[in-house]
Amino acid sequence: MAQILIEKGYDVFGMVRGQANPKIRMIQEETPKLELVEGDLQDLSSLIAAVEQVQPDEVYNLGAISFVALSFRQAELTADITGLGVLRMLEAVRIVGGAENRIRFYQASSSEMFGKVRETPQTEMTPFHPRSPYGAAKVFGHYITVNYRESYDLFATSGICFNHESPRRGLEFVTRKVTNGVARIKLGLQEKITLGNLDAARDWGFAGDFCEAMWLMLQQDTPEDFVIATGETHTIGELLALAFAAAGIDDWKPLVESDPRFTRPAEVDILTGDASKARAKLGWKPKVDFPELVRMMVASDLEIEAGDPSRRP
Ligand code: GDP
Repeated sequence: MAQILIEKGYDVFGMVRGQANPKIRMIQEETPKLELVEGDLQDLSSLIAAVEQVQPDEVYNLGAISFVALSFRQAELTADITGLGVLRMLEAVRIVGGAENRIRFYQASSSEMFGKVRETPQTEMTPFHPRSPYGAAKVFGHYITVNYRESYDLFATSGICFNHESPRRGLEFVTRKVTNGVARIKLGLQEKITLGNLDAARDWGFAGDFCEAMWLMLQQDTPEDFVIATGETHTIGELLALAFAAAGIDDWKPLVESDPRFTRPAEVDILTGDASKARAKLGWKPKVDFPELVRMMVASDLEIEAGDPSRRP
């Protein structure tokens, strides 16, 4: 997101939390123009101070505990950061933005809110049925954003984003776990990939495309909520087949196993988004398709894993 905004000519500030945050070095190397400001989604006064210091025109709240599996183990922390964190950020934006509501706000909502889906494909009108503490916290974040828009006339929008991936995705997520595992198998650094539920299916898109939609949402005349998705659903089997093919490995089935350690107490089986509203009102559509996304991630992981071991994730 920062990279895209910098390319558009924005002065961009990224909020970082805590002391000696290990991600700071990586962020500074990848986006040297990004300025960092201190703040914590658990601490309202630190958010007010950060927003006061920066005096932004636009705030994109992409901050969260974002890993569904972890949210089952740290449910209260997830509710606090992923859920209440949105309320605190909205308060900071409302207080610092003054009576004329100078600051526009984007909330990163999630297809995990649809959970045990009530209809397919999912639109802005589909009822929510979250299946994890993460999904439940995101539902709160979504509705409190809608509520601040309706109560205080804030320019506050919620983008209901389906899974969006890139070479920067964390290794704990299934796409990156697969592309990194395939690269390591190819290079003789690993023997197998051990996954959880192999039957899940997702609407996976490229994060860069999705960030463009987030930006477009804040450039409209009126704040509205949008589903951001590719509209295509793929299985973990397809992800595996494409990733192994990208590394030139044919006989991959014996290289993948399933372990209940990686299954979840409740699962989201399948997601398919309908982004017709975003297409019609924002003129948005994704540019990178699923096979290209998987190839991009495998190529990046092959480069990382073949390089300096100290730079490996
Ligand atoms: P999510 O959609 O935000 O939960 O994104 P993930 O990438 O974490 O998971 C996507 C789907 O892949 C879920 O249905 C997981 O249960 C499934 N999955 C299967 N094996 C694994 C695994 O080893 N790790 C992860 N993260 N997900 C897995």
